[in-house]
Amino acid sequence: MSEQQPQQKPEQQPGRRALLRAATAGGAAVLTGTAAQPAAAASASASGSASASVSVSPSSSSSSRLRVYVLVVDGCNPTEFASVSQPRLAALRAQGTLYPAARSLPIMETVPNHVMMMSGVRPDRSGVPANAIYDRGERVVRTLDRPTDLRASTLLERLPQRGFVTASVPSKDYLVGIFGTRATHRWVPPAYLPVTGHVPDATTVPALVDIVDRHDPDLVFCNLGDIDRVGHSDPTGPRLPFPALRTADLTATDTLIGGFTDHLAATGKWASSVLVVLADHGMDFSVPTNLISVKQQALASRPDLQASVTIAQNGGADSITWTGPAGRRRQGLAEVARLVAAHPGVLSVKLPSQLRLGPEAGDLVAYARPGWRFSDPQVTSNPIPGNHGHPVTEPIPFLITGGHPGLRRGATSSAPVRTVDVAPTVAALFGLSAPRGGWDGTARLDAFTRTPRAASATW
Ligand SMILES: [Zn+2]
Repeated sequence: MSEQQPQQKPEQQPGRRALLRAATAGGAAVLTGTAAQPAAAASASASGSASASVSVSPSSSSSSRLRVYVLVVDGCNPTEFASVSQPRLAALRAQGTLYPAARSLPIMETVPNHVMMMSGVRPDRSGVPANAIYDRGERVVRTLDRPTDLRASTLLERLPQRGFVTASVPSKDYLVGIFGTRATHRWVPPAYLPVTGHVPDATTVPALVDIVDRHDPDLVFCNLGDIDRVGHSDPTGPRLPFPALRTADLTATDTLIGGFTDHLAATGKWASSVLVVLADHGMDFSVPTNLISVKQQALASRPDLQASVTIAQNGGADSITWTGPAGRRRQGLAEVARLVAAHPGVLSVKLPSQLRLGPEAGDLVAYARPGWRFSDPQVTSNPIPGNHGHPVTEPIPFLITGGHPGLRRGATSSAPVRTVDVAPTVAALFGLSAPRGGWDGTARLDAFTRTPRAASATW
């Protein structure tokens, strides 16, 4: 783990203005809005009513501006998204376009997919292929959480160059790290929960509201980490079709998102808002016996190979780097690939170039089969049941919605949307051109009935 910290001062913490108050009751967060917040919508969300709907306020003088909010519901599976557990997102789904064919991109981990969302380029151009890599220069396995790890430009600093205001509200420490000082306004959590390295959504969403109220950014990029973190650790996950703790958290996060949209309505911003609500990857659950240890199982019969590779474990995927004698590299890697692929829990072994991952991903990338997980360098290294990074966790929810009159309502698109499409889509709304070398994603403008005017913040 890097010790480098972003070079910014934390935003003032939420609470001073007491715009939203989050409390926990029965394991679910309850959000209380201001007196101006639509009462019907708030009570419907608190009761879990499937008929809850988002209120749209009349246009105000500030509503002529376009505002884009990218909300990442970290680790949410598409089957969970806007389900009966998420009535507020179900209401938002009726007001926008859902993309059932949406996918995360390799490696299906948090940091690379957030980077793709904001940069619009794949990891072989951004330098960020996974959460954890083997750093050949420093000769350590570490998290990609330094601002210098991200080589590509992102919307967070490109839009301000055109006069727009951006903000980042990340709930996880490594996202704070990798995006550094790029956004105009940045919220840095006051403290992270031990082990998970994140802050609860009940803290993050009030921070989101606070930064919107104080700065009214044109683009806000927010990560909500609870569903992912609960999914990783839920012991009922491998045994129940709808894990108990995770289901409760799906509803809690849904309520918080509903409270945020209520607040946009109450403050006159809803009618000019576009929300992109998506996940960075899905979640797969494994029982304790479905472990893959490259070091201690696949290479158990070959101590020479064990000593010649270094593993960066990413749950559903392992990044394998040859660190043995250079003269044996080619043959050694071929033997490693054969032995790893023979493990019953391994789906495939790929070259990083096949996945557009670049040299940072090591020499080989091994994928787990559904219901399996990697545990390296030791069989005890990864005890958590919920994991991602492997192809079964590619499907993600992806919804473009909001109150803006240019949005298509109640639509479903079969377009093959990817996380890397977020940046070109948002850029098109603001009239921002592609970066040098072009986008690797596609602007998904079928969610709109009007074509945005280029180079303008108003439509
Ligand atoms: Zn994630």
